[in-house]
Amino acid sequence: MLKNHSSLLLILIALAASACKPNNPAKESPKDIVYKKKLDAYTEVQYGNMPLIISVPHGGTDNPTTLPDRNCPNITTVTDNGTIEMVTAIDSVCRAEYNVQPYLVISYLKRTKLDLNREITEATCDNSAVSGIYNNYHYTIDSFIAKLLLKYPQVLFIDLHGHGHTKQRIELGYLVSASQLRNPAAIAPSSTSYYNMLLQNPFLNSTQFLTTANAFGTLLAEKNIPTVPSAQDPAPLTDDPYFDGGYNTKKYTGAAYPKVYGWQLEANYTGVRDNKTNRIKFAKAFLQSVMEFYSRNTSMQPAGFGK
Ligand SMILES: [Zn+2]
Repeated sequence: MLKNHSSLLLILIALAASACKPNNPAKESPKDIVYKKKLDAYTEVQYGNMPLIISVPHGGTDNPTTLPDRNCPNITTVTDNGTIEMVTAIDSVCRAEYNVQPYLVISYLKRTKLDLNREITEATCDNSAVSGIYNNYHYTIDSFIAKLLLKYPQVLFIDLHGHGHTKQRIELGYLVSASQLRNPAAIAPSSTSYYNMLLQNPFLNSTQFLTTANAFGTLLAEKNIPTVPSAQDPAPLTDDPYFDGGYNTKKYTGAAYPKVYGWQLEANYTGVRDNKTNRIKFAKAFLQSVMEFYSRNTSMQPAGFGK
C-alpha cells in the first residue's frame, strides 16, 4: 500500500508540475506547438504536404516513473537536447516562408525508456510496455512513405539528432564511414543511404551527395552552417568522432523502400540548437538547402509542393 501511496504522490507532483507550465511563459516548451495528431502519450506526428519526412527519435525528456529504465547491456541513453525545438523551428519557418509543411514524427519519451533509432529488441530492452509506442513511431513513418508515394515519385527521409562532439559542425550520415569519406574510391554505392536516389536518377554520379556543388552538405555550408561531408569539409580527420547514420537511416533508405533516400543529420549544439534565434537561423539555411537539393538533384520541384 505504501508503494501505491508513493506512486500516487509522484503522479500528483507530476500533475502539479505540469499545471504550472502555462504560468511560466518564459520557459519555452516544444509542447506549446500544436501538431495535428498525438498517437499516444509520447508520440506526436504531423501530416505534411511535401515529400519530406523528418524523424526526431532522441529529443524527448518525458521521464515517467510508470515505465522502467532500459537496462540491457551496451546501450546509449543520451538525450539529443534541443532537437524537438529544432524541428519546431524548421516547421514554423517552412510554413511561413514556403507555405508548405514537412511530415514529422516526434517522440517526447526519454531515451532512457525507449530508443527509437534501434531495432525493437535493443530499443525496448524487451519491455513490452513500450513496444506499442515503438510501433506507433515506426508504423507512422512507414505509412507516411506509402502516402507520399501516391503523390510524389520519391521521398526524402531525414533522421534528426544532436551530437556532443567538440567540432561545431553538422555531421551528415549516409552510411558511409569516415575512412570511406577520406577515400571515396572505397565507397560501395549500394550500401549508402542515397543508393535509391542513384537508381531513381541514373544521371547522378555516386558522390553526388557528398562533396559536389549540389550536395546537401555543400549547400548548407554555403549558408554559414559548417557541415561534414561537403565540398568545404569533405571528410572527418582521422581522430574526429563522426556519426555515419543509424538504424532509421538504414531501414528507411534500404531495399524495402526503393523510392526513399536521405540521411541522418547530427546537429552540433553551439550556434544551431542552443537558443531560439540560432534554431531559426539554422532552420532557414536548412530549408533553403532542402529546396535547392530537390530542384538541383531531383525531378521534384518545390514550386509544385502543396498543390
Ligand atoms: Zn541521437
